[in-house]
Amino acid sequence: MLQFPLRLFRRNKPAPVPDDTARLFAETSNDIFVRAGPDLMPRYVSPSAVAVLGWPIEDWMQGPLAHMVDKDAVLAMDAAQIAAGTESARVTLRMWHRDGSIRWMEASARHLPPEPGEERGDVLVVMRDVTERKHLEEELARLAAIDGLTGLANRRVFDEALSRCWIDELADAGPISLLMIDLDWFKQFNDRYGHQVGDDCLRAIGRVLRARFGAPPALPARYGGEEMAVILPDTGPADAHAAGEAVRSDIAALKLPHASNPAGVVTACIGVATAVARPGGSIRMPEGLVLAADNMLYRAKAAGRNRVESTILLAPEEGRIA
Ligand code: GH3
Ligand code: MG
Ligand code: MG
Repeated sequence: MLQFPLRLFRRNKPAPVPDDTARLFAETSNDIFVRAGPDLMPRYVSPSAVAVLGWPIEDWMQGPLAHMVDKDAVLAMDAAQIAAGTESARVTLRMWHRDGSIRWMEASARHLPPEPGEERGDVLVVMRDVTERKHLEEELARLAAIDGLTGLANRRVFDEALSRCWIDELADAGPISLLMIDLDWFKQFNDRYGHQVGDDCLRAIGRVLRARFGAPPALPARYGGEEMAVILPDTGPADAHAAGEAVRSDIAALKLPHASNPAGVVTACIGVATAVARPGGSIRMPEGLVLAADNMLYRAKAAGRNRVESTILLAPEEGRIA
C-alpha cells in the first residue's frame, strides 16, 4: 500500500493526520481526495491522484488547485465562490493527464469551518474520473441524433431545429428556406434492383447532401423513407431555389442506373419554400413551411419529375397564430 505522503507537506501547512479508517479510505479509493487551504494551495492529495492523472504528488502541491484544469472547459465552476468560502460546488471539468490526454473529472468541493485563529476554512475536494462515462454519453447523444442509413440528422433533430431556427429568424427578421427532396420512381427502383441496392442509393443521396450542406447553419436531414429535407436558415428565395437546383443536378450526376425512370438514372424532385416574417402574414410556422415545400414537391412530380419548384410564404412576425 502507498504510504500516506506526509513527506510532501514541506511547502504547505500540513493537514491534520487522519485516523486509520479515514486514511484507509483516502489511500485505497479510486477517487482523488484533496484538502486545500482557503487560498486553494493543496495541503493533502491522496495517492490515487498519481494513478488517475499521472502527475506526481509534488506537482499537485505546487500551486492552487486550478493549475491542472483546462479552464476553457470548466462547465460550472466558480473558483472565486469556492475561495470566498461561501459555497459548496459540484462541477464537471477537464484536466490534463501527464501524458497529454484530457480526462473528464467530476469534482465536488466543500468548505470546512475555519480553524481557530483562521478567517476562512479549508476546502475539501473529491474528484472522480468520469472520462469513459462522458465518452459514452457523447456517443449516445450522437447516435440519438443521426439516421443510421444515411448519416444525416434524423427526424427528431430536424423538427427541433426547424422550430428553433424559426424563433431565431424572427429575432433577426431573416428569411428561412426549406428543401424537401423525394426520389423519383423509387418504388420501381426497389422492385427492379432490390431493397439493398435501394439502401445503397439512399446512402449515396446522404453523401451528396452532406457534401453540399455539411456546414452549419444548414441542416440536411432524413425526413422519412426516401424523403430528405434541408433547413437553410437566413436564405432567401433565389439562393434557396439555386440550392435546390444544385441538389437536383448533383443527384442526376451520380448516374445511378434506374431503368424504370424515363431519365435512365436516379433523379429527384425538390420542393423549395421560403418564409419571410411580415406584418399581417398568416402562415402557421413552422408547419406551414413544411406543407408549402411538400406542395412544391408534388407540383414538381406532376410537372414531369427531375425538377425544382419554389414558393414564398408570408409568416406572421410573432411566429405563430392561435
Ligand atoms: P414518386 O416519383 O412519385 O416519388 O414515386 P415513388 O415510387 O418514389 O413513390 P414514393 O415517394 O411514395 O416512394 C416511396 C418508396 O421509397 C417506398 C419504398 O419502397 C421506398 N423506401 C422508403 N424508405 C426506404 C428505405 O429505407 N430503403 C429503401 N430501399 N427503400 C425505401
Ligand atoms: Mg416519397
Ligand atoms: Mg419518391
